[in-house]
Amino acid sequence: MREALTSQERRLRVLLVAHAVWSALLAMSYIFTGDTEWFGSLPNSFAKDVLFVALSAIGAAGVRRRGWTALVIAAGYLALVVGQIATLVRGGTAPVDLPLAGEVSGTAVLLGWMVIDLALAALFVAWWASAVRAAHGLRYLHPIGFLALASLAEVLVEGEREAVPPEKVARNVDGYLASLQAKGKGRVQLALIALALWPLLTLRPPLPVLSPAARKTFLKRRFVEPIGGRRVLKPLRPLLQIMIRNASQMAYLGYYGDSASWGSIRYVPYRERLPDGRPPAPDDPIAPPLRTLTTMPRERYDTVVVGSGAAGGILAHRFAETGRRVLVVERGPHVDPRQFSDDEVTQYLRLYNEGALQLSTTFSLQVLQGMCVGGGTTINNALCLDPPAEVLEQWRASGVDPDELRAGIMTVRDWLSVTEIRAATTTKAAQRFGQAVQALDLPGHLEVMSANISGACRGTGYCNIGCAYGAKLTTLDCVLPWAQQEHGLDVLADVEVERIVAGNGRARAIQGRTASGEAVTVAADEIVVAAGAIGSSWLLQRSGLGGEAVGEDLHFNINSPLTADFPEVMDSFAGIQMSHAYVPEGGVPGYLVETWFNPPATQALAMPGWFERHFENMRRYCHMACGGVLVGTTTPGRVKPSRSGPQIEYQESDTDRRSVVTGLQTAGRIFLEAGATRVMPATFAYHEYRTPASLDRLPGDIREAGDLLLTSAHPQGGNAMGKVVDDGFRVRGLENLYLCDASVFPTSVHVNPQLTVMGMAQYAAGRILS
Ligand SMILES: Cc1cc2nc3c(=O)[nH]c(=O)nc-3n(C[C@H](O)[C@H](O)[C@H](O)COP(=O)(O)OP(=O)(O)OC[C@H]3O[C@@H](n4cnc5c(N)ncnc54)[C@H](O)[C@@H]3O)c2cc1C
Repeated sequence: MREALTSQERRLRVLLVAHAVWSALLAMSYIFTGDTEWFGSLPNSFAKDVLFVALSAIGAAGVRRRGWTALVIAAGYLALVVGQIATLVRGGTAPVDLPLAGEVSGTAVLLGWMVIDLALAALFVAWWASAVRAAHGLRYLHPIGFLALASLAEVLVEGEREAVPPEKVARNVDGYLASLQAKGKGRVQLALIALALWPLLTLRPPLPVLSPAARKTFLKRRFVEPIGGRRVLKPLRPLLQIMIRNASQMAYLGYYGDSASWGSIRYVPYRERLPDGRPPAPDDPIAPPLRTLTTMPRERYDTVVVGSGAAGGILAHRFAETGRRVLVVERGPHVDPRQFSDDEVTQYLRLYNEGALQLSTTFSLQVLQGMCVGGGTTINNALCLDPPAEVLEQWRASGVDPDELRAGIMTVRDWLSVTEIRAATTTKAAQRFGQAVQALDLPGHLEVMSANISGACRGTGYCNIGCAYGAKLTTLDCVLPWAQQEHGLDVLADVEVERIVAGNGRARAIQGRTASGEAVTVAADEIVVAAGAIGSSWLLQRSGLGGEAVGEDLHFNINSPLTADFPEVMDSFAGIQMSHAYVPEGGVPGYLVETWFNPPATQALAMPGWFERHFENMRRYCHMACGGVLVGTTTPGRVKPSRSGPQIEYQESDTDRRSVVTGLQTAGRIFLEAGATRVMPATFAYHEYRTPASLDRLPGDIREAGDLLLTSAHPQGGNAMGKVVDDGFRVRGLENLYLCDASVFPTSVHVNPQLTVMGMAQYAAGRILS
C-alpha cells in the first residue's frame, strides 16, 4: 500500500503545480508580447519556461519519487542569476517601460528579477529538503546526504538477497548520527554530500539520479580502482579515500547493524544462543552498583581525579582509601552494566569517544577510546600483558623506575584477579590458531592471554560493547564501586573538564561543563589528571599548563586485521573476542598477532572487498575467523590543539608499516595452517591469498599509507615522563597537579597497554601519597 504524502510533500506539490502554471503563462506571454528585436531572446525565454513547466509537472505528478526536479528548477534559477550578473557586469540593459511604473532603469529591473530568482531557488531547495526530511523522518542527515547514502547502500551492499532495503539502511544511519554527540559526524555528513555531488564535476547527473548500474561503474572507475591502483594524485587520495570509506562504513553499519540482516549471515546474538533463549541470571555482582552524583557538587574536595578509566579508577581508589574526600569527574555517561544492550551500534554511540569515529588529521588512522564511566576498561578486552623488560629499561632514562612499576603491576594483577582466559570461553578459531602456531614451530611463543575476567564470563563475544554480566573486573564494575562503598568516593559523570585553574605554582580548581552547557567549578587541594592519551594533553593545552612538550611524543599500537575463510562453520562470534597471541622471539616484539572477532557491523568494517565481493564475504561471516596484527609505533605523532578540539597528527612510518605487513604474512601463514582456504588483509584494493607462498606478494600489495586499514585502540604518550611530568608524576611547575595515565608513557609499550597503565597508576599513587 502506498504511504500517504506528508503535509510537507503536499506543500511542495502545490508549489510545483503553481510554478508550472506561472511558467506556462510566462511562456504564452513571450509568444504574444515577447521582444523580437534581439535575435534569440524570445525563443530562449520561451524554451526556458516550457522546460520549467515540464520539470514542475513531472515533479508534481510524483512528488515523493520525482520531487528532486525541484532541485533542477532551483539550479535553473541560479543559472538565470548568473546570466543576470553577466549582463550587469557588461553594462546592463536599456531602460524598460513598465505598465504602471513608466520607464524604469534596466539595472533596477535586472536586480528585481535577480531577487525573485534567488528567492525562488531558495524556496524550491528548502521545500524539497523539508519534504524529504518529513517523508523519511530524518533527524540529522541532510536530504542530499541521505539520498546519497541510500543510493550508495543500494550498490555497496550488493546482492540479490539484500535483507535491509537501502532507504532503511540510510534511515538507520540517520538515527545513529542523530543520537551521537561528536564532531566527526559533521565529517560524515560532508563526505556524503560531496559524494552525491561529485559526479557534477565530471558532468554527469548526481549519484542518486544515476541508475544503480551506472552508479556502481562510476564508483568503481572514479574511486575504488584509481585509489586502489594508486592512480590518484597524492594530496587528493586521502580525501577521496575518506569520502568513499566513510560512505561504505556508514552503509555497512546501517545494514549489518540492523538485526534484519543477521539471519542472512547466520549471526546469532548471545541471548538466542542459549537453549531456552534466556540468559542465565547474572552471578552475584562483584560490587554494589556505582552511584553517580545527581546534583552538581558545591563542596571543596581534597582530591579531584579527572577521568575514570584504567588509571583514574585505580588512583581514585588509592587516594580515597587514605581517608581523603575524593571526586572523580568523567566526561562520558554513567551506564549501569545491567542496562548494556547487545546492539553493537547502540553501545558504540553510548560508550565510545566520538562514537568510534575519531580519526587522525590525515584520515589514515582511526583511534578508538572509551568515553564513559570506566573509560577504556568498560569496552576493552581486559587482556593483561606484561610490558617487555626491554621497554621498561628504555623508560628508565626518562625517570620510570622499572622495579616500582613491576611491583605496581603485581599488585594490580592480584587485586583484579588477573588469570589466564578459560579455554571454555574461547572460540574454535582461536583454538585452531593456537594449534597452528605450535604446528608451524614459529620462533617465539604462543600465549593464551591473561585478563581481568572472572569465572562469570560466558563468552558472549561482547567485551568491546561492554559486559552486561559483570565478568570483567573493570573500574566501572568494581574499582570505583569498592572505593565508593568503603571510602565514600564521589563520581560525577557527563561533565567535561575544560580547564584547570592554577596560579602561584598551585592548581586550585577544575572548571567544566555538563553536556547541556551548565558550567561547573570544583575546588580541590590536589588535582590528578587521568583523562587518557589525547584527553590529558588536550586538557593541559587548554589550561596552558605543562610546557611546550605537552602533546608531543604521541605513540600508538597500530593494528590491522586479517580475515580468514574456513570451509567449515566456525561461528567465531560465539566466544570471547580475543584470547590467543603469537609473540615473535626477541626483546621488544616487532609485532604481535592476536585472535579477534566481532559482532557483524564491526566485522563488516574490517571485511575486505567492495560491492558484491564484500556482500558475498559477509555471507560467509560464520565461516570466518580474524586476527589483528599489533605494532608499537617507533615514530611519534602529536596532539595539536585547535578551536574544534584536539587534532591527532600522525602518519605511520615506512618501518612501522613494514612491521605490520610482516605480521600480516605471519598471521596468514598461521590461519592457512589452521585450515583456512584463503586469507584477506583489510587492503583498500582487494587481495586474497590462498597459499603460504602467495603471501610473498603482500609487501608489494601494501606499499603506501592508505593501502591498508589501520586502527588504534592503544594511544599512548603525549605527556611523557621526564618531559611533562617529573618522576613523582607532578606536572612540571605545579606543586599539587599530578598526571598519570597512558599519556605518561615515554614510548609505545608495544603490547596491549592497560596492565601497564594500571600498574603505573598504582606506582604513581605510591609515589604521590608517600
Ligand atoms: C576497544 C578497545 C579495546 C581494548 N582492549 C584492550 C585490552 O584488551 N588490553 C589492554 O591492555 N588494553 C586494551 N585497550 C586499551 C586500554 O583500554 C587503554 O590503554 C586504557 O584504558 C588507557 O587508560 P587511561 O586511564 O590512560 O585512559 P582511559 O581508560 O581512556 O580513561 C580516560 C577517561 O578520561 C575521560 N576524559 C577524557 N577527557 C576528559 C575531560 N576533559 N574531562 C573529564 N573526563 C575526561 C575519558 O572519557 C575516559 O573515560 C583497549 C581499548 C579499546 C578502545
